[in-house]
Amino acid sequence: MYSVAVVGAGPAGSTAARTLSEMGYKVVLIDRKEVVGLPKQCAEGLFAACFPEFSTSPGEFITGKVRYLKVVFPDQTSYRLRGDLLMLDRPRFDQHLLGLAERSGADLVLGQKVEGIDPYSGEVRLRGGETIRAKAIVGADGPASRVGRSIGLRNRLVPAAQVEMTWPCDDTIYAYIDRDLPHGPYSCWIFPKNEAGTANVGCFGTFPTLERFISKYEIEGEVVEKNGGAIPLGLAARLQKGRAVLIGDAGGLTNPFTGGGLYPAARSARIAAGAIDRYLRGETKGIEYESAMRRDFVASDLHLKARDALAGLSNRELCRLGAAVDGLIFPGLKLSASPILVWRGLLHPGIMRPKYAPLLKLLFRYCLAGKVW
Ligand SMILES: Cc1cc2nc3c(=O)[nH]c(=O)nc-3n(C[C@H](O)[C@H](O)[C@H](O)COP(=O)(O)OP(=O)(O)OC[C@H]3O[C@@H](n4cnc5c(N)ncnc54)[C@H](O)[C@@H]3O)c2cc1C
Repeated sequence: MYSVAVVGAGPAGSTAARTLSEMGYKVVLIDRKEVVGLPKQCAEGLFAACFPEFSTSPGEFITGKVRYLKVVFPDQTSYRLRGDLLMLDRPRFDQHLLGLAERSGADLVLGQKVEGIDPYSGEVRLRGGETIRAKAIVGADGPASRVGRSIGLRNRLVPAAQVEMTWPCDDTIYAYIDRDLPHGPYSCWIFPKNEAGTANVGCFGTFPTLERFISKYEIEGEVVEKNGGAIPLGLAARLQKGRAVLIGDAGGLTNPFTGGGLYPAARSARIAAGAIDRYLRGETKGIEYESAMRRDFVASDLHLKARDALAGLSNRELCRLGAAVDGLIFPGLKLSASPILVWRGLLHPGIMRPKYAPLLKLLFRYCLAGKVW
């Protein structure tokens, strides 16, 4: 009998397995893949400030650094966020995290698909018929989580399509806001990988949407790889049942506005590990994860509302917003650190209209929350 069975060895699962092993628990980490991280399903960007959550130093899996995130409106007006961003080689990053979990003492079961779990008995059923038992189960098996489905949950998912193409050296990541592209308004991105001489160019949606974006914005480069995946839109209705908890994409913890899920994967892994530790030591009657997680991820709801509020605007209205913030540079990740932006936005005549009231309200709630997440 294991103390904890972790299903899925992506960034969330490997971080949870490692953290719990380091606490002294007997942990098994199961993944359906023989080699984790492949095929790549990521634009590979991570704010440097988020990196410590993984408790490892930047290593050979870094493929470049960028200085800015530029948000581009349909008429090419734009604002920039300053903040160091690390570009990863995502497959190597996932394999590095898995290596850390293994070195911390977790047992690895690779190439074995989990068919389902029983959240009350702690049984994990593998495709081959074998059953693993544990006192607690961590579902870290990505957006279409089997563990989630075993406890009656399904994430709301949006498809994402991406190509990696040749790209010149660049210190900026680009995010395009365009109502005319499906799954807009925040729809498309370009993430340059300077050491590789390429960029990940992608969108919320399918390949025809990506082709429309590439042609509309005249993006040029030679495609070297095609990939894609699914991104959860908003937190799962529940994050735990019995002895089972959901972390990372399995719990829908990805930022629903940007699609960024690496930081939330590590953060939720740590919060879950802490809650499981207290449960296994007998300090709590059950695993007290859900409320702690929802408190920590208070901004998820705001991101979803921001997405919906922007979706209610036409491209003309988005351009008016673009004009209000054009040329501004935010000093960092947190909007609360940018009073000038709020001030400029409030004073701009194009903004002082009832239609934008929900956006302004959201902006203030962001400021009050004091965090991006
Ligand atoms: C196109 C695209 C671009 C993205 N770009 C970024 C970005 O630039 N920055 C960022 O922060 N986030 C990005 N994301 C989101 C990010 O990739 C995810 O949030 C992140 O991978 C979540 O990690 P995870 O460990 O929760 O899940 P995953 O990385 O999906 O790992 C889940 C693991 O579970 C395994 N598994 C699944 N089902 C089973 C099963 N039944 N049995 C056993 N094992 C199973 C899988 O093999 C996999 O190894 C992007 C997503 C997409 C689709």
